[in-house]
Amino acid sequence: MTDYNISVAHLYGNLMNTYGDYGNIIALTYYAKQIGVSVNYQLVSLGDHFDNENFDFVLFGGGQDYEETIVAKDLKNKAQQIKQYIENDGPLLAVCGGFQLLGHYMVMANGQKVDGIGVMDHYTTNMHDQKLTVLNDKRLTGNIVIKNNDTDETYHGFENHQGRTFLGAGERALGTVVSGNGNNGMDKTEGVIYRNVYGSYFHGPIFTRNGNLAKRVLATALSRKYPEIDWTDKLNQIETETF
Ligand code: GLN
Repeated sequence: MTDYNISVAHLYGNLMNTYGDYGNIIALTYYAKQIGVSVNYQLVSLGDHFDNENFDFVLFGGGQDYEETIVAKDLKNKAQQIKQYIENDGPLLAVCGGFQLLGHYMVMANGQKVDGIGVMDHYTTNMHDQKLTVLNDKRLTGNIVIKNNDTDETYHGFENHQGRTFLGAGERALGTVVSGNGNNGMDKTEGVIYRNVYGSYFHGPIFTRNGNLAKRVLATALSRKYPEIDWTDKLNQIETETF
């Protein structure tokens, strides 16, 4: 045991883990270990209680439309606690389907509308929505590069989604699309930042390929729990991996 530890919740990790989104937790643990921090992992899935006060980092990964319909029903029971966690500045990474379900709704490829929990202000329509100004009826798939406007950091990833997400009030993009499609293939936004929530369509997973982002989020989680220590400085002293 180390003196410092963080508790991580993996929301629906047994259902929503497209392209190994769990790798984000492996990446976080990899950096944590090097600065003497241990990571306690907990899967929080269907029927489990999510207590916002128990966690220092939450991962909500991606899934296909079918899994999202199952998760969406259960998620309603956790909505209040998740909202509390977010509004208390809890760090959370939401990928693809997880990102979609934190918003107001998502429309599946077959046109069925699935309620999100609306703890964030974005919504997701589908690739056949006639209101889209760029209508190509295609999944948005492939390598993607974005630039974060606050830090000037460049993030690399892989996206594969049919949903078209549009950000709402108080939300800003994780980055501006340099190449690839992003949230909707239209407005050059990719992902979201709201308080300490990071959402993204990047699978593969985003923290392994973009160690600078992993470190930033880890520093946020640690500073929230142990404010007396300069975690950013500690993390700056170890190597950042990019794959
Ligand atoms: N079902 C969603 C979509 O295609 C999410 C897919 C995913 O998580 N990769 O838009």
